[in-house]
Amino acid sequence: NSDLILYVNLELVNTKSGRRYVIKEMLGQGTFGQVAKCWDAETNSYLAVKVIKNQPAFYQQAIMEVSLLSMLNEKFDPDDQHHIVRMLDFFLYQNHLCIAFEMLGHNLYELLKRNSLRGLQLKYVRTFSRQILDALVVMKDAGIIHCDLKPENILITPNVKTAAGVKVIDFGSACLEGKTIYSYIQSRYYRSPEVLLGYPYTTAIDMWSFGCIVAELYIGLPLFPGASEYDVLCRMIEILGGQPPDNLLREAKNTGRFFQQVGSIYPGIEVQNGPISAYRILTEEEIEARESKKPKVGRWYFPRGRLDKLIYTYPWKNLNGENLPETENTDCLALVDFLRGLVEFDPNKRWSP
Ligand code: ATP
Ligand code: MG
Ligand code: MG
Repeated sequence: NSDLILYVNLELVNTKSGRRYVIKEMLGQGTFGQVAKCWDAETNSYLAVKVIKNQPAFYQQAIMEVSLLSMLNEKFDPDDQHHIVRMLDFFLYQNHLCIAFEMLGHNLYELLKRNSLRGLQLKYVRTFSRQILDALVVMKDAGIIHCDLKPENILITPNVKTAAGVKVIDFGSACLEGKTIYSYIQSRYYRSPEVLLGYPYTTAIDMWSFGCIVAELYIGLPLFPGASEYDVLCRMIEILGGQPPDNLLREAKNTGRFFQQVGSIYPGIEVQNGPISAYRILTEEEIEARESKKPKVGRWYFPRGRLDKLIYTYPWKNLNGENLPETENTDCLALVDFLRGLVEFDPNKRWSP
């Protein structure tokens, strides 16, 4: 499948500089290639090398990853203060582009899994959120959209004795704002409404994904784990208690895939959410009739309901399996307020980093 066959003790050599990276173990496998933990004898340290598949499309995108990340590292974060992974080297090895990064720890999905998919303590949610936001500020200043923010792409920084920390990785789907070429981006659970609906997108799509991540860190489960784009959209509407605003639906390319127009649209007049919206989301039966197959709809992972209730009642049941009452302490109120600003349908109203 165009992957280079990697094995322990294989030396990945940068033939230009002569530097050698000896594979010690495999760290991950992604769409773009494989990531190996390597030993660098020159610096006596481990690093992570991403070996890209040798197909032109993957190569091109990886070149973008190299150029955007070197710009972020060198120009926007020269002192490594903003929680963005450092790129250490890149080279061609047997026709595969290899990118060497500083060695980091587990990703946040692995962390949640180790915690049996129970959420993290609020103090960690807060610390990690602040650090991811710090990275997002820098990316916004640089005009870079990450396009694939998700727990798997946020890694724990190891060996920090004083405090817990994270860094953002995987700029393999990133692009420059204003040079958005692809329409099929972001991982489904973290996909923003404007990308789902086919509306021009900006760095605001990363803030949507970020909101999904913050909620997931707290409750331990994805906020919108839809089995299809339709399912994701239905979950958004249920949890947020409303649908995307009409101005977005009117201009988006894919609206007709999910909605039926039920009212007249007056050009220039903003029709707001609620009963006077000109659009209604299709029912499962209508989607089925249209596509002549059942829409993929996943089971709910947590009690159905609104965002505020989800947070106020978390962890939903006590040890006897009884539902918990709502607790509106200031921390929960603040978290809901924060999430509301992030998982906001309208990209223009959504909070910026
Ligand atoms: P995707 O399918 O998400 O696009 P990808 O092929 O672009 O993945 P990455 O996300 O860069 O690859 O890396 C895949 C996995 O390898 C990560 O989720 C992480 O677990 C691990 N990994 C990547 N970089 C590092 C690093 N610097 N240190 C430690 N582990 C890493
Ligand atoms: Mg990744
Ligand atoms: Mg990637």
